[in-house]
Amino acid sequence: MIELRNAQELAKISQACKLSNAALWAVEPYIQPGVTTKELDHVLHKFITQAGGTPSFLNLYGFPGSACISVNDQVIHGIPSPRIKLKEGDIVKVDVGAFYEGFHGDNAYTFPVGQISEEARKLLKVTEESLYKGIEQARPGNRIGDISHAVQAYNEGFGYGVVREFVGHGVGKKVHEDPEIPNFGKAGRGVRLVPGMVIAIEPMINLSGAGVRTLADGWTVVTKSGSLSAHFEHTVAITESGAKILTVR
Ligand code: MG
Repeated sequence: MIELRNAQELAKISQACKLSNAALWAVEPYIQPGVTTKELDHVLHKFITQAGGTPSFLNLYGFPGSACISVNDQVIHGIPSPRIKLKEGDIVKVDVGAFYEGFHGDNAYTFPVGQISEEARKLLKVTEESLYKGIEQARPGNRIGDISHAVQAYNEGFGYGVVREFVGHGVGKKVHEDPEIPNFGKAGRGVRLVPGMVIAIEPMINLSGAGVRTLADGWTVVTKSGSLSAHFEHTVAITESGAKILTVR
């Protein structure tokens, strides 16, 4: 069931979204060669809890970290680890949600570690641009397929692989709600978008091939090809005048 939010609920979701975005940017200065993903997780946990929130992903379905932190060919759901140390040229995806006063916010960003290759830089740029192509379509009268198609077409235009197995979602009292927001699909298909819907749009884009597999830890999703993958996410509200990005500073 798709929940529609009234103005009061939207104001609360906005607060949770602002906190999750503030956490994302609070971790940025720590993203340097030599830092472990566990150390980054500590920064995120401290930031969210000191602000009076709870990390949305901690213990969600049993996930053992406060955020999902995924490096290079890891697509999503990377478990923060003292054994994973960032090095110059890596790309690191931080996916962090915050629960605050009854509602969640969810966002993700792919950070470069120092100087990265031209190939990686372009992957990050295109994936982030595709998120905004999707957001442009998130307006009343359009359908979910319009978002999906815009994201897919833009990335595939660069020859990139669009991950099929994991998708965006509604956001509210739970961090994962209906409807699903795939990053692939046909324009004009699917659920019609109406004001009051709050959704997370989150393209997961591989440099080479769309295939992914899950590691033996039961969480970490990696590209089948071993190529780099990028992930960007915003939580947005559908309003009368179009999409409003809630995960802003
Ligand atoms: Mg999400």
